[in-house]
This record gives sequence, structure tokens and C-alpha cells, in this order.
Amino acid sequence: HLRQPSTLHVDGVTVRFGAVTALNHVSFDVEPGTIHAVIGPNGAGKSTLFNVLTSVYRASEGSVRYADHELTGMRPHAVAGLGIARTFQNIELSHTTVAGNFLLGRHQQMRQGTVAAALRLPGVRREEREQRRAIEKIAEFVGLRDRMDVLASELPYGDQKRVDLGRALAADPSVLLLDEPVAGMTRHERSDISALIRRTHEELGLTVVLVEHDMPLVMGLAQVCTVLDFGTVIATGEPRAIRSNPAVIEAYLGG
Ligand code: ADP
Ligand code: MG
Repeated sequence: HLRQPSTLHVDGVTVRFGAVTALNHVSFDVEPGTIHAVIGPNGAGKSTLFNVLTSVYRASEGSVRYADHELTGMRPHAVAGLGIARTFQNIELSHTTVAGNFLLGRHQQMRQGTVAAALRLPGVRREEREQRRAIEKIAEFVGLRDRMDVLASELPYGDQKRVDLGRALAADPSVLLLDEPVAGMTRHERSDISALIRRTHEELGLTVVLVEHDMPLVMGLAQVCTVLDFGTVIATGEPRAIRSNPAVIEAYLGG
């Protein structure tokens, strides 16, 4: 897929579910190589936004563009192929081992088709060894090197969040969408994951869109922050400025 860093343009995106307008003319740009936080109260539309960015939901209006591609109306698989990967607010792991989850995440990188894979042609075997090496690196990166053959469902919650992150990284993305990566974690786990997110940015050079409620974490990681309230962008800017923005304070305090 595309290795050139590109801006992700969200332009006038509206999503309606019956009478509910989950996103209302949402516009902002995610600049390449940044950590861009998206915050807002529950129900603000953050997960819906990720579902639009990955083309799981189709916007009623507006467009999402990345590297000269219009993502709206693309198949989710094609969006993944452009190098956009996500994690889930509610973990959606496959009923297999940690390594198996990483392999599934990696699958869209496989050059060989499913027929070749089914027949176990020599090229595929060679590719499998390469895949294995690749997922070992992923496991190392997310701190699960000694858990690769454990069933993901048997891991503690915090480790399952790491598997989800590794699964997304295994797709070799340029843009990583993280939906509440530290929700439900202990303070100790939070700082570990925070460090991991920083490393995806600094060592892997990824652009990160971070949906998160943990404000200290957002303040510590993000260069830019967009605030959603009832599906509408009420502010975009540096986290420090955002924190003292009266509209943001009102949205959070329910003023
Ligand atoms: P957040 O992630 O910010 O908490 P969501 O994007 O999950 O918010 O939800 C935004 C709004 O859209 C909520 O009112 C939610 O109930 C609604 N919503 C989200 N997904 C669906 C869906 N698939 N069908 C109907 N309503 C939905
Ligand atoms: Mg959500």
C-alpha cells in the first residue's frame, strides 16, 4: 500500500441513524505523522467517525479522502489496503491464539490468493515463514512475545487490548485509529499503553487518530485535538488550548 505520508481529510461528514444525527457536517484534517486526538462525551459520535473512516458506515453527506482516494463508498477491505487500520472500543478478537490474531491482521498484506494458500504452494510456505517472522516482531513490540501461542480469550483484559493493537499493527498501516485504547485499564497498564502509542508514532512513524477519555493521556500524547459534542465539532486545536476552551468545558461539565 501507500508509504507516502498523506493527509486524511474529513470533509462535511454527516451520518444519520433514523432520527439520530450521529455526525453533523464534521470536518477536520489529520496531518501525516501526528497524533490527533478526538475527544467528546459518550454518544458524541467518536466510534461512528471511525466506522466512517474505515468505510464500515457510509456517510449520508460529505467525503473522506486519503492520498487522492475517496474512501466514502469504498469497501472496508480496500480502505485497509490503503494502510488505514483500527482497534475497537469493544475488543473484537478472533477465537484463536495471539499469533493467529496477528496473522489475520496481516492477511491483507499477503500477495498470494486463497487458492494458492489452500493448496499450500511453495511460495506460500516461504511466505508463511516470512509472516511468522513479521508477527514475532509485532508480538515483541506489543510485549506479548511469550504469549504468542496462548488463546487470546484466555488473556487478561489489558493483554487483550494489546492483542487488538498488535492485530492492527500487523496490517502494516500508515494510519492507526485507536478507539479508547486504555478504557477499563489500571493506571499502570495505562502508562504502558501510552508508551506503546508513543512508540508507534516515534519508532514506526505512524499517524495516529486517538479516541480517548483519559485526558492526561491525551494531553501527554496528542499534538492536535478535535472535540465532538452531539456529532458536531466544537473545537480543533492544540490540546492545551482545547482544555481551556469554554465550549469544551461546557460540553464536558454539561453546563
Ligand atoms: P461515541 O463513540 O462518541 O460514544 P457513538 O459513535 O458510538 O458515540 O454513537 C453516536 C450516536 O450514534 C449515539 O447516539 C449512538 O446511539 C448512535 N449510533 C451509533 N451507532 C449506531 C447504529 N449502528 N445504529 C443506530 N444508532 C447508532
Ligand atoms: Mg465510542
